[in-house]
Formats: sequence, C-alpha cells, structure tokens
Amino acid sequence: MSLRYLENVVTLEYDRNKCTGCGKCVEVCPHGVFVMEGERKARLTDRDLCIECGACMRNCPFDAIKVRAGVGCAYALMISALRGKPAPVCE
Ligand code: SF4
Ligand code: SF4
Repeated sequence: MSLRYLENVVTLEYDRNKCTGCGKCVEVCPHGVFVMEGERKARLTDRDLCIECGACMRNCPFDAIKVRAGVGCAYALMISALRGKPAPVCE
C-alpha cells in the first residue's frame, strides 16, 4: 500500500513542454511520483502521492516543476537516508 497525502490539494505542477528527460526528478522523488516515459519525458504517476517536499522542483535543471514545498522535505531526507539514496536538495 502506498501512502497518499491529501487528495486534490497537492500544489505540484509539471510542465511537460519544458522537460528534457534528464531523469533527475525520478531519482530524487521519495514517493515515486515521477517515472520516465521513454527517454525524453517524465510522467506523473499519481499526483496525490506527492508530499510536497520540493526536491523535484529544486533539482529540475529546466524549471519544469513547481510545488509549494512544506514539511515534506524533512520526510524526504529521512526516506532517502533510510534507502541509502542520495539526499534530495530541498532547503
Ligand atoms: S528533472 Fe525536470 S527536465 Fe529532468 S526529467 Fe524531471 S521534469 Fe524533466
Ligand atoms: S515535491 Fe517531493 S514528493 Fe512531490 S513529486 Fe516532488 S519530489 Fe516527489
């Protein structure tokens, strides 16, 4: 079972036109909100999985993602540490 945040209140916005498919958002998102669609574009799996940590927005080099980051950042850092993944940049 995956944990969802609150339904239909997530501030996450993704501009597919700006995405170059670098894959950074997939790498840093602690909740699997982004997946790669082929090699050229990211795709949202389920917006409501987003915890608004802000890691994707701060790590996207092409300004394709906007989100109002909240307390989710601390949670994202914790999850990354537990999974042995690189910590997202979200200060
Ligand atoms: S980090 Fe930005 S440019 Fe890179 S795949 Fe994600 S949305 Fe696209
Ligand atoms: S704000 Fe955090 S949880 Fe939401 S999509 Fe971006 S990296 Fe994932």
